[in-house]
Amino acid sequence: MNYAKIRNFDIANGEGVRVSLFVSGCTNSCPGCFNAEEKDFNYGKPYTGETREQIVQMLDNPNISGLSILGGDPLCQDYWGILNLRYLCSYVHTKNKNVWMWTGFKWEDFTKITTNPFLQGAILNLISECDVVIDGPFIQELYSPSLKWRGSSNQRVIDIKKTFEKMGNEIVPYVGIDI
Ligand code: SF4
Repeated sequence: MNYAKIRNFDIANGEGVRVSLFVSGCTNSCPGCFNAEEKDFNYGKPYTGETREQIVQMLDNPNISGLSILGGDPLCQDYWGILNLRYLCSYVHTKNKNVWMWTGFKWEDFTKITTNPFLQGAILNLISECDVVIDGPFIQELYSPSLKWRGSSNQRVIDIKKTFEKMGNEIVPYVGIDI
């Protein structure tokens, strides 16, 4: 897995002051994609053990509320990439902080992202480790600068734990966000 950038003390992507990791690579084709460069899986730098340690140190700062994972698309990563992201999620929770993730896939399609059963299982585990997921493709016609934490109004800010409690039958929006 490659990553495009890491932002420490980020206040633009999620609630509070956060560490944001932008992974490289995306197979979606949102018209009007605002991240075209980062769609390339070779863009940026390889994610290594050193990268992980750097992020872990940033997350240890008591002023940091949690980790945000963006792209590219986190759910388009290979098996080891997904496992690396999951490791970070687990670490964040040992610190009683939270994980937000952005993906171009819709909640309804999360169980059919790949035909590889091992990778698909790892992807679902990663999703279940998140607290909030912003789902769906960016649609230029639905863009509004007033939307919080998303680019277009079709995208949903989903409370993952509460949605899993409903067995996925009902998508529960994160507090204060209409979907
Ligand atoms: S999911 Fe994000 S990176 Fe991928 S095509 Fe859509 S806007 Fe671009």
